Amino acid sequence: QAKSCLKTNALTLLTLLGVFSGIVLGLILRTSSDEPWSERDAMYVSFVGDLFLRMLKALIIPLIVSSLISAVGNLDLSLSGKIGARAVAYYMLTTVMAVILGIILVVAIHPGQGTDEGIEKGEFGRNTTTADTLMDLVRNMFPPNLVQAANFHYRTVLITPTEEDEEKYRQKVGNDSANIPVNMFKISGQYSEGANITGLVVFSIVFGIVIGMMKDQGKILLQFFSALSEAIMHLTRIVIWLSPVGVCFLIAAKILELKSFSVLLGQLGMYFITVLVGILVHGFIVLVLIYVLIVRELPFRYIANISQPLATAFGTSSSSAALPLTIAALEEKNGVDSRVARFVLPIGATINMDGTALYEAVAAIFIAQVRNVSLGIGSIIAISITATAASIGAAGIPQAGLVTMVMVLDTVGLPAEDVSLIIAVDWLLDRFRTTINVLGDSLGAGIVNHLSKQELANIEHRADTVTAKL
Ligand code: ASP
Repeated sequence: QAKSCLKTNALTLLTLLGVFSGIVLGLILRTSSDEPWSERDAMYVSFVGDLFLRMLKALIIPLIVSSLISAVGNLDLSLSGKIGARAVAYYMLTTVMAVILGIILVVAIHPGQGTDEGIEKGEFGRNTTTADTLMDLVRNMFPPNLVQAANFHYRTVLITPTEEDEEKYRQKVGNDSANIPVNMFKISGQYSEGANITGLVVFSIVFGIVIGMMKDQGKILLQFFSALSEAIMHLTRIVIWLSPVGVCFLIAAKILELKSFSVLLGQLGMYFITVLVGILVHGFIVLVLIYVLIVRELPFRYIANISQPLATAFGTSSSSAALPLTIAALEEKNGVDSRVARFVLPIGATINMDGTALYEAVAAIFIAQVRNVSLGIGSIIAISITATAASIGAAGIPQAGLVTMVMVLDTVGLPAEDVSLIIAVDWLLDRFRTTINVLGDSLGAGIVNHLSKQELANIEHRADTVTAKL
C-alpha cells in the first residue's frame, strides 16, 4: 500500500522538490560568479521553464471555453444557477474577509513609517481613474470579437497632451514647471496584449446555457464541447509531467534576475511580512475554518492533494496557468464532480483572488503610511471596496494585481506613480498571493460540490461523453 501511495503521489512530491531545488539552484548559480548574471545567460536558465509555461498557456483558452460550455450545458438552468450563486457567494464572502483581515493587520503592524527614504523607486506612468477601470471591467465582459478576445483585452488609456498644448497651459498659469492637470489628457481606448478571459468566461456561460436549452442540435454542440474539454484534460495530464522541471527552472531563473536581496530589509520588509502573514492566516486558518464549518471535515488531505497546482501557481505566478492542473487534481484526487469543477474553477481563477484582495488593501494603506497621509474611516471603507473590485478585475497572470492597484490608490487620492514604492518585492509576493488565490478557488469548489451533491446525483449528464470517467 505504501508503494502505491508513493506511486500516485510521486509527481506531487517531485513538483515540491522542484520548487525547493529551483531555490537552491538559483542561489548556487547566483553566488557562482562575482559578476551579476547577464540577461542572455539568465535566459538559458529560464528556457526550460518558459517551455513549460508556453504549454500551459496553450491549454488555458480552449480549456476555459470548452469546460464552461460543457459544464453549464450539462446542468439544467436552475441547478447551474444554484451552483453559480453558491460559488459567487463564497467568492465574495471570502474576498471581503481577506480585505478586512489585511486592513486589521496593516493598521496594527503599521509597516510604513512616514518617510520613503531608502525605498528605491521605479518608473510607473500616469494612469487612468477608478471609473475608467470599472468601466473597462464591464466592457471586457462583452467582447465584440471572440477571436480577438483570445489575444487582447480592452483598456482605457490617457493620451499625453502635445508639447504645444503643455506650453500654452504653462503660459496661461504663468508657471514654467506647472504639472499638467489630468483633464488635459485625452481619453482613448486600445486593445492591449493579453487574453480577455472575463469576456470569454461570460460568453461561454451564456452559450452553455443556450445550447443546454436547445433540443437535438444543442446536443451535437454539447457533445463537441464536452469531447473538447476531455481532450484538453488529456493533454493536461501529459504536460503535468513537466511541472517538476518547469517549476524548478522558472524559480531558479527568477532568483538569478534579481538585482539584490537587500530590499527585503527595512519598511519594505515589514510590508512584505504583513502581507505574507495575512495571506497565510487567511488561506490556512480562515478558509480552512469555513470549509470545516460547511463540509464538516478537515481539509488536510484535500489540500495535500492539490499541492501540485499550488506549487505550479507558486512557480508561474499565474492562477490561469495553474488552472488545468487545478481542475485535474480536484476531479481525480478530490472527487469533485466534473460539472462543478469545470464550471466554478475557471470563474474562480478569473474573479476570486483572496490573496490579491488582501494585498491590495495592505499595499494601499502601507503607501498612505509611508506618505504620511492619514486615512479616516471613510477612506478605509473606500479602500476595502476598491480592493475587492481590483482583485476581481485583476487577470490571473503575473503581477496583474499591481496594475489594478492604481484604482485603489486613486480612490484615496494617492498618485498612481506610488505603486513604484512596492515594486521591488512584488515578484515574490505575487507568487505567494497566487498560491493562496488557487487554494481559495479549490476549497470553494469543494464546498460548492458538497452543497450540490444531492442535486447533482439526481440529474444525469446530458452529453454521454462527459460521463466517460477520467
Ligand atoms: N498573479 C496573480 C494571479 O494570477 C494575480 C495578482 O495578484 O497579480 O492570481
